[in-house]
Amino acid sequence: MFNKTRADQKNLKIADESASESRKQVSGLRSLDSEYLDIRDSIPTGLKLVREYEEARERILKVLRGTREDWDSYRWQLKNRVSDVEVLKGIIHLSENEIREIEVTGRQYRWSVSPYYLSLMDPEDSNCPIRLQAIPSIKEYMGEPGLDYPMNADRQLYPPLVARLYPDRLIIKLTNMCSMFCRHCQRKRDIDSRDLIHPMNRIQEAIDYVRENDEVRDVLLTGGDALALSDDQLDYILTELGNISHVEIKRLGSRMPCVMPQRITPELCEILSKHDPVYLNTQFNHPREVTVEAQRAVDMLTRSGVVVRDQTVLLKRINDDPHVMKKLMQELLKIKVAPYYLFDCKKVDGIRHFGVPLDVGLNIIKKMRGFTSGMAVPTFIKHVPDARGKVPIYPRNQYGPVFEDSD
Ligand code: SF4
Repeated sequence: MFNKTRADQKNLKIADESASESRKQVSGLRSLDSEYLDIRDSIPTGLKLVREYEEARERILKVLRGTREDWDSYRWQLKNRVSDVEVLKGIIHLSENEIREIEVTGRQYRWSVSPYYLSLMDPEDSNCPIRLQAIPSIKEYMGEPGLDYPMNADRQLYPPLVARLYPDRLIIKLTNMCSMFCRHCQRKRDIDSRDLIHPMNRIQEAIDYVRENDEVRDVLLTGGDALALSDDQLDYILTELGNISHVEIKRLGSRMPCVMPQRITPELCEILSKHDPVYLNTQFNHPREVTVEAQRAVDMLTRSGVVVRDQTVLLKRINDDPHVMKKLMQELLKIKVAPYYLFDCKKVDGIRHFGVPLDVGLNIIKKMRGFTSGMAVPTFIKHVPDARGKVPIYPRNQYGPVFEDSD
């Protein structure tokens, strides 16, 4: 027979009390974030929409007369970018009004979408966050004029492809090419009427400038999209930079992991792995973009030693909601992309309609800090035309939720 001693009874009582205390604490913690927990599973994410995306892929391949093998080739994806409204209307539903808007706006601002990115769109929803980022809208044309330059660095180009604002780092703009023309792109004015990779002698001038300035330890290759260059061109540029002893890190600016993950090939990864350390800054703006294909691309990059970080742009009707933003950042961490910056959308001509009041961004950060892993909270950045560089903005309460003692 088992006889409980007084000490045993006391210990059991303490255990009961502490279990009940712990249950209370769990329920308290849950209720702190109940608003998000109630809706998190209803936010569409690319990792869950696998079947819908597969159906869309088959539909698009039929329209473009491609094969499953074609789909996985970035060359096919590039060649078959859709920029004709007649083709587009065979893929997503467009009203007569929307067709007219695309035709009118398209004369002012070029548009083109990769078949892959089209497959992420809800074909029936004209407010789909993927569609809003890719398909021209008359709003680009209308509204107040914005600033005619996106950043001070553009006024200080020297040599022509170099943009420089900070003492120890600079940008080399290699091309105006992208795998698609995002409607919110701050560089709309650089898109021009044709794709262009800058001549190698111009790129060489920029590399020579880096060589001559030994305070430059960090070089960002961008465009357009740095991965619009061929593997050989990238290999050459990264080798040249790697031979400069004061260049400590190379960075690539590319949206391809999000909008055309097929560009991340074993051949490209092999090249990037030779030029360690390489960082890749990319841009995901909605959880629908975090797909199995994007996951595969990021996995290949990270296995090659490339550090992948995200720079989201805060966009009206796309991600200006704290729950959507939190879901996006959590999905990114799942695929090993580290949230880095959340950019306030610049007030540049043609994209002002994507802007949201500053308070909206601050509220998003406030609702994330303390409510999710610190790693999932990007730094909110505002571009102030006359300031030098990016200005980080923090909500007043930087300490996250207050955990109060209560019954
Ligand atoms: S990928 Fe980047 S540079 Fe190219 S259009 Fe989109 S936002 Fe602009």
